[in-house]
Parts: sequence; structure tokens; C-alpha cells
Amino acid sequence: MHFTEPVYRNPYWPIYPLLEITAGCTHNSCKFCTMYKDVKFKMHSLEQIEGDLKELSKECPDAKTIQLLSANPFSLSFDRLFSIFELINKYLPHIEYIYGATRVDDICNKTVEELKKLRDFNMREISLGVESGDDGTLATINKGYCATDIIEQCNKLNEAGIKFWMTFLNGAGGKERTKNHALNSAKIFSECKPMLVGTGGLVLFDGTMLLKDMEKGVWTPLNEKEMLEELLLFVENLTCDCRFTSHHTVSLDLNTNDFLANKDKIIKKLKEEIEYGDFCTMEKMRNNKRSL
Ligand code: SF4
Repeated sequence: MHFTEPVYRNPYWPIYPLLEITAGCTHNSCKFCTMYKDVKFKMHSLEQIEGDLKELSKECPDAKTIQLLSANPFSLSFDRLFSIFELINKYLPHIEYIYGATRVDDICNKTVEELKKLRDFNMREISLGVESGDDGTLATINKGYCATDIIEQCNKLNEAGIKFWMTFLNGAGGKERTKNHALNSAKIFSECKPMLVGTGGLVLFDGTMLLKDMEKGVWTPLNEKEMLEELLLFVENLTCDCRFTSHHTVSLDLNTNDFLANKDKIIKKLKEEIEYGDFCTMEKMRNNKRSL
């Protein structure tokens, strides 16, 4: 099997088998991310992919799921993806779900009809690292698209019947945009109707451009209490019927399969944490993180 370091896979999906069809990230310039800074984006040859699939067909011939790597494998054109999906179907005929992460703008070059064909080939669930629905915050972190792009592309996914996750990057707007980040993200995410909303707390890793912006004084990080207040504002204004998950934020278990039914409980837990939380420990835990 061919894998390019660093190998990151979504831990909420089955983590075996994995198939790397691209290396690195097409964008590679979000200001909070250094994950693929030393990896040049590359699409792997069909020969290499077929070789890996042959191996998988011996190791796990009855596999029902497969997770595609790396950062945004669905950035590939429809034709390329279709060829790869045909190979997956040939070597792993029992696959029911093809998972993968992707950027919002990777959907732009695919029509709804093409997306439907990919869905019929088992691309049923993807994860969008959206981060924010606030244009100012998206520009601050150099995400490379804006809120209207998010709505347009998510509408296409909904029309094609492809379920998707949306992530909210808690703290990304800094003190400058925290309120806009929370409110506009809740508005846009609610409008997009994702199957799952995930929230992750920002960690300022060494070497990130956001850390440099902080040192230059053009972006100011939130403290732990402000992070929770931002998350609370986001949750209070989120109105979509979805699953909800939270990580890199607090030790609180906010995960639920039914967000709307449990929204009041989540709000209560967050308010209690804001009132009584041990912010020193939270800060130490965040500062000790070295990777996602
Ligand atoms: S956050 Fe995702 S899209 Fe942005 S540079 Fe990192 S891997 Fe690429």
C-alpha cells in the first residue's frame, strides 16, 4: 500500500481500509494549518491505485466501507473519480460507503448530475472542513471561498443526495470577529442542512500563519472562556436537524445523534462550564496539542 506522511484519516469513520488517491492538499494555505506544508499536492496514477486495491482485495475482500485519502481526494475531476470508483467496485464489490474529506470548492467543478452518479457509486457521505460561515473570518484564515460558495455547493450536494459534515472552527475569527463568526456560521450551517455539525477548538500550532498574525498584532486569539462563549453563541443559533460532535474544545461530552432534541442540554452544559470550568487546565491541554 502507498501512503504519504502525514496520514490523517477521519477517526469517526471506519479507519480500515484506507486508500490514498491523492497526496497533500490543493489549497495548502489555510492560515491555521501546517498539516501538508511539506507535501506537494499530487494525484496518484490509476496503476498505483489499482495495485493498492488488488492488495486490499486480498486483505479485506468483503469490505463494506473505504476511506479515501488525503486532504481533499474529491478535488479530482468527475471523470477521474469515476474511473477510480469503477476500480474500487471491481476489486471491492461489497463496498457500500466511500468516505472522504474535501473542500467546498472541490464541488464547484461537478454538476449535480455528476454528483448523483458518484453517489450511485457509493460516495454517500463526505466531510467539508468549512470552518466558518462568516466572510470576514474565512478571509482572516485564508480559506479560499466565501459564504455564498458554501451555500451553493451544499445545495448541490443536497440535490444529489450526498450527505455531508460541516465543521465549525471555534476561535478562528479571534477577538476581532468572534460574534460574527458564531452568528454567521450558525446561520449558514443551518441553511445548508448538513447531516452532522462538528466543532473543533483552534490550536495555534508552530509555523502557522495565524500565529505570525498574532505576533504582528493583526489577529487576537480568544482565551478559553471566550472560546466557550463563542461556541455557546454558535450552538444557541444553530437550528438544523443534525448530529452534533465536539472535539479539541472541552472535556465535556456534547456529542449527540439528535442535536435539536438535545440542544437545551448542550447549552446547559456549556453555560455551566463557562461558569465553573477550569480554564487553566483547558489552556494547558490546548497548548500541549502537537497535531490534530
Ligand atoms: S485546513 Fe484543509 S484545506 Fe486548509 S490547508 Fe489544511 S488541509 Fe488544506
